[in-house]
Amino acid sequence: MTVSGLPPYDDTNIFARILRGEIPARRVYEDEWALAFHDIAPQAPIHVLVIPKGTYCSFADFSASASEAEITGFIRAVGKVARDLGLEQPGYRLLANMGNDGGQEVPHLHVHLFGGRSLGRMIPAG
Ligand code: AMP
Repeated sequence: MTVSGLPPYDDTNIFARILRGEIPARRVYEDEWALAFHDIAPQAPIHVLVIPKGTYCSFADFSASASEAEITGFIRAVGKVARDLGLEQPGYRLLANMGNDGGQEVPHLHVHLFGGRSLGRMIPAG
């Protein structure tokens, strides 16, 4: 499950270890396709990470290599977590960092789900 030119999946990454139950996480949702848990360093009143259960480093290899069922299951899980957290009416933001310029630190695809306050527009200048 790798994309040409990108490193292979490293199953020692912290989210792989959370998936295997080796380290704790404040879990909010789990199904066949995805796991959601609170970010350890929240950047908003609600900051949850949703990860696919498959071994995908990033959006790049997930979008290229995941099955239709994995993609559908993951996207539906992200939507369900936001709904279950009561964020649909006030609104929320999804963010997926990819690679160096994207600022990705953990090499297992994760979608950040932010909410709980007005988040402003897009990203701050850096
Ligand atoms: P990214 O920069 O998109 O790779 O984001 C990685 C995110 O994982 C950061 O927001 C971290 O705070 C978060 N994180 C790192 N370790 C843990 C952990 N053990 N449990 C929950 N969140 C974590």
